Amino acid sequence: MFGGLERFAGRAFAALSALAALCLAAPALASVPLQTCLTRLDPAASEAERLIVQSGAEVCGGSQAALGAGDFSVRLKFRPVVSNPEDPLVLRHTSVWQDGERIVFHYADGTTAAAEFTSATASRYLAIGAIFEIPVPARAAPLDRIQIETQGSANWRGVLLGAALMKRSEAGGIRLWVTAIYAGFAGLGLALLVYNLALWKALRYRFQAIYAAMLAALMAYTFTSSGLVSQVLPWLDNNTRLRWSYVLLASTAVAAIGFIHAYFQRNAYPQWLDRAVRGSALLLVAASLSFALFAPFAGAITDRLYFVACSLLVGLTFVILGVAWRSKDPNAPLFLLAWSAPIGVSLARSAHGLALVPYSFWLDNGNLLALGVESLLSSLLIVSRLRELSRERDKARAGEITALRLANSDHLTGLLNRRAFIDMAVGRPEPYRLILIDIDRFKGINDRLGHDTGDEVLRELARVIQAIRPADSLAVRLGGEEFALLIPLGEQDACTPDAILEAVRAHKMPFDLRVTVSLGFADGRINTDECWRRLYRLADSALYRAKADGRDRACRATDFAEIAAA
Ligand code: GH3
Ligand code: MG
Ligand code: MG
Repeated sequence: MFGGLERFAGRAFAALSALAALCLAAPALASVPLQTCLTRLDPAASEAERLIVQSGAEVCGGSQAALGAGDFSVRLKFRPVVSNPEDPLVLRHTSVWQDGERIVFHYADGTTAAAEFTSATASRYLAIGAIFEIPVPARAAPLDRIQIETQGSANWRGVLLGAALMKRSEAGGIRLWVTAIYAGFAGLGLALLVYNLALWKALRYRFQAIYAAMLAALMAYTFTSSGLVSQVLPWLDNNTRLRWSYVLLASTAVAAIGFIHAYFQRNAYPQWLDRAVRGSALLLVAASLSFALFAPFAGAITDRLYFVACSLLVGLTFVILGVAWRSKDPNAPLFLLAWSAPIGVSLARSAHGLALVPYSFWLDNGNLLALGVESLLSSLLIVSRLRELSRERDKARAGEITALRLANSDHLTGLLNRRAFIDMAVGRPEPYRLILIDIDRFKGINDRLGHDTGDEVLRELARVIQAIRPADSLAVRLGGEEFALLIPLGEQDACTPDAILEAVRAHKMPFDLRVTVSLGFADGRINTDECWRRLYRLADSALYRAKADGRDRACRATDFAEIAAA
């Protein structure tokens, strides 16, 4: 049952090892330990009032999302650290929905330095992986505090996530590693897309087209969610980038469930499952579109709906796989292996989206790796399914050929039957020799030794004819104990009537019976029914003559025609 799994396990293992090696090569994050504390700012407060942060109202750790949307003052606390000119510090944090932020670096000597950006100018600081990377100006005095003021934070999952303070060289190492993963993924994605599109063009199975669409959506999503798009289009508003990410991730998820659904189509689904898949996909599309069009308006609710729909789709994936597994689909185990990584990450992300698990860098970037694993294994799955489908096709074709052969052949001897022989022969333009072969005193064999022995003699005679006939002749059992050979003129010497007579005499028959045949033959054309009937009549008259002349002999139609005319 799991033959497919075994066959692909080796290749899948090699692919997974390559990806795992890439992950292990990831540089360890050697950042300064930080504590993130935030205070909600009163929108009505003056600039001066905003500078005085009430430490009592500060939230350190715990759920930032509980504070709701608005403007925030974020204080990063850490042990003072010097930003060296040779390898200065950088502040990194994840990009989330906000209108803008202003960062103030406080040094121990009382000096400050500031940087700011809005969502429209965010690309200035946005690095690969959709991480803001803000350089900390190098000073002799240690940096002892960072104060960030955010405007219009949606705060669906947090105001400032994944904050890290590290040396520029370390940040560069992470960037390089993330770039390598994205580049690898882009190459893999592109190759798989082209390969699956080409396969689809050739074979036209629906699941291939859906899979190609999923890959395209996934690559587009990667392009926006990684922040790469902001490097290509620096004028792109960062919040617009997030709108695109929502829509593209939803498209990927809908295509993914569509692919899984179509892939296991032949394991009949219960009707409620089809409806649930359609309903959840529709909910996801609606949530992502309303988010893209209206966020931040009703952002919190659409964002929540989005992750509910995502969780539903992941759950339905398990149901479809369960149906396939129960139907003993041989590809179900490999499918589960391929999709367990993205399913696991999607579940974790949905849980994070629903504020059930805290933010982590891996949550944000893990989907890429997981989908990389999945894309690779899914291609193997597509190949496996195609192999099954083409095997089914071949079997059907072979069945057709067998059925045709059965319809055309004589069931007792395996030679052509009369109808098939006439269909094949009449209409051919070149001249032929028709040899009619009739067993002598066959009725006597039947009478003495029984019908079964008679049948056996018929089969033996068919064998003699098969063995002696030229390759491009036709051999037929016309009926009863009468056979015929149609030999192209020019090749008649390869199988003469005398040779046939001799071969029959020499052949060992059941019960060592002495069996002989009489032959009548004639040369002529058979390009019309009329010609055929004429040629047959001539050969039949010759056969009659051979019988009359004492059997076990051949008679040629022209000889006979001459005699008859004389
Ligand atoms: P002749 O030498 O004049 O051809 O004599 P014959 O006995 O061979 O010719 P006849 O036409 O009198 O008899 C043919 C016999 O072939 C009669 C029939 O029972 C027998 N026969 C026809 N079809 C089959 C068959 O499929 N199996 C067997 N065992 N006998 C068959
Ligand atoms: Mg006979
Ligand atoms: Mg006969």
